[in-house]
Amino acid sequence: MNISPPVLSIVAPVYNEQGNIPRLYSEIKRVMEQFGDPWELVLVNDGSRDNSLQEMMTVHEADPRVRIVNFARNFGHQTAVTAGMDFASGDAVVLIDADLQDPPEVILRLVEKWREGYQVVYAVRAERRGESAFKIWTAKMFYRLIYRITDVDIPLDTGDFRLMDRRVVNAVNQMREHNRFIRGLTSWVGFKQTGVEYVRQAREIGETKYPLRKMLRLAIDAITGFSFFPLQVAIYISFVLGVLAVLALPLVVFLRLATSDAFLEGQATTLSVVLILSAFQFFFFFIMGQYIARIYDETRGRPLYVVADTYGIEIEKHTIPARVVAEVPSNRVTKNSDNRTDIEEGSHAIA
Ligand code: UDP
Ligand code: MG
Repeated sequence: MNISPPVLSIVAPVYNEQGNIPRLYSEIKRVMEQFGDPWELVLVNDGSRDNSLQEMMTVHEADPRVRIVNFARNFGHQTAVTAGMDFASGDAVVLIDADLQDPPEVILRLVEKWREGYQVVYAVRAERRGESAFKIWTAKMFYRLIYRITDVDIPLDTGDFRLMDRRVVNAVNQMREHNRFIRGLTSWVGFKQTGVEYVRQAREIGETKYPLRKMLRLAIDAITGFSFFPLQVAIYISFVLGVLAVLALPLVVFLRLATSDAFLEGQATTLSVVLILSAFQFFFFFIMGQYIARIYDETRGRPLYVVADTYGIEIEKHTIPARVVAEVPSNRVTKNSDNRTDIEEGSHAIA
């Protein structure tokens, strides 16, 4: 079947979403009928352990506009989104969650703004349905913290649900850093950006793949990726302690000489001071460690992800082939009728 190159690519990361795949496809197809131009749906299987891949293959076989990137293991949400952006070929790319919490209708509103000339259109969560008060509160605090301490203007209450023009996608794809925070990267590149508000729906099928541990990790990635503030906090604490020392020491000497009782006698006081100070010190070891671990991650130069196979995607049509580290076994490379090389299967590691 001959299909025209897509104008719009919709990218969805998938991790154990077997129940959502058929709905995701049918909803997107229904909405995209109103779009008019050719489109594609790039599904990135992030090492699902359920039947997600089989469900994806079924929709891919029925509709070749559905393309699949199958990871060799779970590499995490932000990495799956990165692969989707690498393999998308549209003039604009929309990132959407596979669980339909981001209603596909909103895509048309994003497209409208894109056609008005904006290069990044992000979807702002005006309301979040069906999530625990704890999740809503932590998310709210997270967005505000990031907004305050990072050097880029990352808009409040926006997830990854957004549209990016090809120029933005190319710029973001150039940045191969590990521990990625996609929202930060798309803000960092600049361009003309705007937001549209939407109501984030409850998840109907399956459960969240973001436990507290992963949320914290994303928060640390966001902070370390876009701010040096935590490294600078130590200097403020050192000022405060320094001032305390300058004031306290003469006072202690004076009280010691002037009063007959042994002032501040006892190990309890000393012990408390030592414990408090070492708590601060270990906290800053942790902070430094976070930055150092990320430096180490970059120096190892490992690929961001490893692709086990792709379906309906011609790898060398994308910007990554130069970065394919693990060579594809030559018997897996086939020539198309128009003499283009087509790699349907094989293992690729992408830096
Ligand atoms: N996801 C993924 N890899 C992961 C975790 C999540 O690809 O390791 C996908 C997941 O399938 C979904 C999207 O990322 O499409 C958002 O995850 P989820 O809905 O669990 O997050 P929440 O909406 O609860 O924040
Ligand atoms: Mg979700």
